[in-house]
Amino acid sequence: NPRQRPLRLAIVGSGPAGFYAAARVMQKLPDARVDMFERLPVPFGLVRYGVAPDHPEVKNCQERFEEVAQSERFQFVGNVKVGRDIPLDVLSQHYDALLFAYGASQDRALGIAGENLTGIHSARAFVGWYNGLPEFADLDPDLTQSDTAVVIGNGNVALDVARILLSSIDTLRNTDISVHAIEALSKSRVKSVIVAGRRGPMQAAFTIKELRELLTLPSVGFKFEDDSLVPTAEYIKSLPRLEQRKYRFAQLLEKGSATTFEEAKRHWHLMSLASPRSFQEAPGTRNLQSIVFDHNRFKDPNAKFERTASVAPTGADFTVNSGLAFRSIGYKAEALPGMTEELGVTFDTRSGTISNDKNGRAVSADGQRQVPGCYATGWAQTGPTGVIASTMENAFASADSIIHDWESGKDFLATNDGKGWESLSKDSRVTIDKPITWQHWKTIDAAERERGQAAGKVREKFTRVEDMLAVAYA
Ligand code: FAD
Repeated sequence: NPRQRPLRLAIVGSGPAGFYAAARVMQKLPDARVDMFERLPVPFGLVRYGVAPDHPEVKNCQERFEEVAQSERFQFVGNVKVGRDIPLDVLSQHYDALLFAYGASQDRALGIAGENLTGIHSARAFVGWYNGLPEFADLDPDLTQSDTAVVIGNGNVALDVARILLSSIDTLRNTDISVHAIEALSKSRVKSVIVAGRRGPMQAAFTIKELRELLTLPSVGFKFEDDSLVPTAEYIKSLPRLEQRKYRFAQLLEKGSATTFEEAKRHWHLMSLASPRSFQEAPGTRNLQSIVFDHNRFKDPNAKFERTASVAPTGADFTVNSGLAFRSIGYKAEALPGMTEELGVTFDTRSGTISNDKNGRAVSADGQRQVPGCYATGWAQTGPTGVIASTMENAFASADSIIHDWESGKDFLATNDGKGWESLSKDSRVTIDKPITWQHWKTIDAAERERGQAAGKVREKFTRVEDMLAVAYA
């Protein structure tokens, strides 16, 4: 190793990407030190604020992250927004390298008429609300006005939204779902959820596990209504075994729900080949009343079972009456303020990702030049796709790039003091009011568990940053 001193790395974001990358760097460079910056006073990103409350097993990765945080070579600094409270040119003066792991915390809009009517929510807002994300603590969606809800999108998040709307309140009550969500969901009048996709079920992005969960929800019925969009059992059987696996979706859909459609109290539907064209309001109000959809067709009817099949509008449209809609068409990352001007890191707004060499090394817009000392990982690098396992693989790859570059003597951030948070925290250009250490977080964590216990739940999250800070600094 040509280096004179151990690597000092700043990681921006404390979701799975940041934590898995920290673990890898600290494991492979046994004297490297990592400081992790998180804009909220609490860690774990979408593991805490995205993953559904009825998926507690998915959150087990937090135990691994806890181990990382226990290391003396690791420092957590929460309640600080990098790019605002710490300008990037200031951050870069105290570290050899910066790893951007700040996720995708905006949402994509449909860009159609009526999108701002009352009764239309982004899935990100709704998910954030039931998971207690401070940003959406006051969303207060009215679930009492419409017995039909429409979820626009065909990813796992769309199915999470559908499942939360359809689940019996008793299965949610003991989870870490926010108490305001329990209250609103127990008053919900939603009996039917339509999950709409612009293509067909064979092109859907959701996974078998999520689909099976929805099909086995107690007292919830599903019947697949458009047989022409999935291959027949006979056709599937005629294929080689490996090929058949591709169509497990079709087999599940055709089997339908565990509760028969007729006996079920609530129902869900898959609506295919439907692109929303406009949202209509109830006359004289700003409330959603119905949604007009374009009816699509497969451009190549012979390819309709292929994952990549594309569609075009037929010219016909149809209307669905509903006063409640969720758009679940993806999360979106954005550039951090100063990223390009102060560091030369470019952000590709088309793909919504930090320009990089696919192994996490930030590169110039033309892809020709590596930006020394700047790296990206997780959803900020790849865009909002995949699950925690794929985010982990991706974080390991980005970490390996840092390790490789460090060991091979490449250029890192040129004018840094390598002293990290010790000197950064004294820098007059940094404006952090109440920084949160890991010990502070453990205090917040314990208080949340205690609040939960009192209510017979795993945890009751604080939904206000002020309340988190008050507990931490008590
Ligand atoms: P994130 O988890 O978003 O973490 C980014 C962190 O950076 C956040 O804590 C954010 O607050 C912080 N940050 C942002 N900006 C700044 C800044 N300027 N300064 C400092 N910090 C900042 N995967 C599964 O395996 N199973 C599931 O059941 C599952 N359910 C999901 C449900 C939903 C609704 C969503 C959206 C995703 C789900 N996923 C699930 C996917 C999983 O959450 C992602 O793969 C993973 O969280 C991406 O990790 P990340 O670290 O890149 O981003």
